[in-house]
Amino acid sequence: MSMVSNIVKYYKAAYEVRSRILWFPNIIAVGEWIVYHDSITVMGLGCQIASAMTMPDGREIIIVDDTFLTMSKETQIAIVCHELGHFHYKHRERPFIRSLKMTFGIVSQNEIEADTYAANIIGVDNMIRALHELYTFAKQREIKQRIKILQNRSESYNE
Ligand SMILES: [Zn+2]
Repeated sequence: MSMVSNIVKYYKAAYEVRSRILWFPNIIAVGEWIVYHDSITVMGLGCQIASAMTMPDGREIIIVDDTFLTMSKETQIAIVCHELGHFHYKHRERPFIRSLKMTFGIVSQNEIEADTYAANIIGVDNMIRALHELYTFAKQREIKQRIKILQNRSESYNE
């Protein structure tokens, strides 16, 4: 897809998200967290599986797609912890930039920070396991690289 049509697609999707954002069809609970299930919004944000979002009133919400619902509970919790990491560090990466980076297999510093945040909550080995499951759903080179980065960390812990 050309750069231009990608940009047009992104802005059209962002517009659709803005007009939908006031309501979410389903609210589900993952562990102690409230998570919203709305595949169209997740897709509109240029994401897959899950997205962290700050509402205009400052509320921080996590939105997930259909795929998320089919994953194991452990991986769902790992993903939610990763999104909480984005809130914690107040990451603001434009979804379009994020999806471009993913296309080229570039690991964003924000993703590494969010993975590390999640690993501190659930344990680095559980986070690695969750990323492996994530990879089976979203075959992106970026995920493989994030696994490698966590593995290096895990090994340096064990030394
Ligand atoms: Zn992320």
